[in-house]
Amino acid sequence: MTEPSTKPAARTPGVVQPDVPDEVIRVLNVLPSASMVVAPDGSVLRCNARATGLGLVSRSSVTIPDIRHLIERVVEDGHAREQEMRVRRPPLGRELLELRVRVAPLGTGAILILIDDLAEERRVDVVRRDFVANVSHELKTPVGALALLAEAVLAASDDPEQVRHFAERMQVEASRLSHLVQDVIDLSRLQGDDPMTRAEVVDVDELVRRAIDEVRTLAGRQDIELLTGDPCGALVYGDERQLLAALRNLLANAISYSPSHTRVAVGTRQVDQVVEIAVKDQGIGIAPNDVDRVFERFYRVDPARSRVTGGTGLGLAIVKHVSQNHGGECTVWSEPGVGSTFTIRLPEYQPSSSSVDRAIDLDATDSASGEDQA
Ligand code: ADP
Repeated sequence: MTEPSTKPAARTPGVVQPDVPDEVIRVLNVLPSASMVVAPDGSVLRCNARATGLGLVSRSSVTIPDIRHLIERVVEDGHAREQEMRVRRPPLGRELLELRVRVAPLGTGAILILIDDLAEERRVDVVRRDFVANVSHELKTPVGALALLAEAVLAASDDPEQVRHFAERMQVEASRLSHLVQDVIDLSRLQGDDPMTRAEVVDVDELVRRAIDEVRTLAGRQDIELLTGDPCGALVYGDERQLLAALRNLLANAISYSPSHTRVAVGTRQVDQVVEIAVKDQGIGIAPNDVDRVFERFYRVDPARSRVTGGTGLGLAIVKHVSQNHGGECTVWSEPGVGSTFTIRLPEYQPSSSSVDRAIDLDATDSASGEDQA
């Protein structure tokens, strides 16, 4: 597991802030919980990437009012407190977080806050159990096909033409199997991982440009035109590799589920501290009954078509997890025969306004020094 790094936030000019002892910072760096250290006035002195990832800190402040109240009570009487609370995950507010929040005064006047996401812990357990069952089932198809094809090769061993035919089909099944295994590895990493520990500032226009580049050949094969809108200049904070994989999956689907000579367009925009990346196609669309289910693992509207496109049924599950792990979401609008638009929404990274977020960009090496940076 990658260590979360606890980073100093910039000091408010003219205000003497309490010290954060080195030992505390070292302990926070190895705890899996989201953690912060705040001054008695509630301003955040230190926080780790997990706290930012859950949207609990923005612009050197604690975003959740219930947590702020708990801190105030601890500041008032100096007694440590623990409380469980259900809150909406900032900034989008779509996801419900079930938090266990522990607040304790440190000797120096600063306040320590440790936060665990109980819903996430439960969800990961359930997801893991289902996932193992689903994967075993899905692996049976290509493995079974390979076994049958091997038998066919043996039976046709004196007919070179037939042997070549079956061997080619074995190659297709083997490549399907390897895609499936890769997607399973990616998804299980996403389901158990905290992407914000490898997070960096990501330029959205550059992300779109790279994703488009990666699907250019696929689009060319079907004579599908790839279009992009004006650059949006937005930044997000996250794992670039994962974000790129998510966008590439949406683009690959848009191409695979569209007839030749159509267009696939990517548009980006910023609305209220949220960055939207929309992938729009003029493809076959998705019926209303299926549209809510396409993000489920291994759900395919038309399994036969998905087999032809080489789909694993995991592409959109990966997109959903990447979006959620970054504090965002992925939604879909679709109409059969007209096309689909998949939109990823992510919290916008604002370098000029958030000293805490800027601080956690720094390399982890100074995190154990305990020196707040002015
Ligand atoms: P697959 O590997 O089968 O493409 P995904 O998880 O990426 O798996 O997608 C799940 C299902 O959603 C697909 O099998 C397909 O039926 C449907 N789908 C995904 N994207 C599109 C799209 N752009 N247009 C139409 N149908 C789509």
